[in-house]
Amino acid sequence: KEFSSDQEVRWCPGCGDYAVLKAVQSFLPDLGLRRENIVFVSGIGCSSRFPYYLDTFGMHSIHGRAPSIATGLATAREDLSVWVVTGDGDALSIGGNHLIHALRRNVNMTILLFNNRIYGLTKGQYSPTSEVGKITKSTPVGSVDHPFNPISLALGAEGTFVARTIDSDRKHLTAVLAAAAAHRGTSLVEIYQNCPIFNDGAFDAIKGPEAADHLLRLEPGVEVTVNGRTWAHDPTAVDPGDQFAISRLGETAGPLGHGGPIPIGIFRQVERPTYDDLARGQVAHAQAGVSGSPDDRLTALLRAGDT
Ligand code: SF4
Repeated sequence: KEFSSDQEVRWCPGCGDYAVLKAVQSFLPDLGLRRENIVFVSGIGCSSRFPYYLDTFGMHSIHGRAPSIATGLATAREDLSVWVVTGDGDALSIGGNHLIHALRRNVNMTILLFNNRIYGLTKGQYSPTSEVGKITKSTPVGSVDHPFNPISLALGAEGTFVARTIDSDRKHLTAVLAAAAAHRGTSLVEIYQNCPIFNDGAFDAIKGPEAADHLLRLEPGVEVTVNGRTWAHDPTAVDPGDQFAISRLGETAGPLGHGGPIPIGIFRQVERPTYDDLARGQVAHAQAGVSGSPDDRLTALLRAGDT
């Protein structure tokens, strides 16, 4: 059964959000969980209407704060599959602080970051991912802001699962969702999402008939070349340096803009103890009256998580 609710979907005709919703609704049964054990938390923005359209538990929460609410849920309820739905404005502007701390803590949740490079809900202002020179209602002569690359940001915060996919490729989207959901820790999935009303065609270069010329599909072992150096992609490498270099492909602005094809797929997938497991472990130790200082107990837990 698909996890669709009885709510009327209220996005503009042609919005990329529909494709992501359909993929998620179709994928959720594969988790093998009851609907009451799945929670979607969103912030504010077009994509943040997502929880209404799923027959799961959910919360349309506070602007930019969905990762923090999800952190509490994931820590208090180990039995829940916790998801965050956010947009480029919600996650990277007002919620930037909350996003990076969820990533560094490695809380067990899956974050879907819908990136349409514009503020849609408030009708077309530039966002933290809009390109330099972007003309919008709030930048009538062009944006002078250097944009975030969400993948580079997540890798810089040492996120343990970092991936990119696109709304128009259902197969790729579903495969990335499955890998993200299976990962223990914070999974960050950037989804290139077309906003046909305020930023139509933002990702056309990797959607049309000549997409293959502009796209790099990341798989383990696939050969990548950045700045004249070639190597085999390893998403499991603990040092994120090479993964970061790949994340700069497709960018043209600034000294770290390496140009070249736009990579999609899994950039990084490594194991690290999760915040919620460690916190629950500390509580369990305290309740059991285990002797030793809190520092001793934390060290033991971290070591246990590393093995
Ligand atoms: Fe989708 Fe853009 Fe409409 Fe928002 S404004 S619902 S992102 S098409």
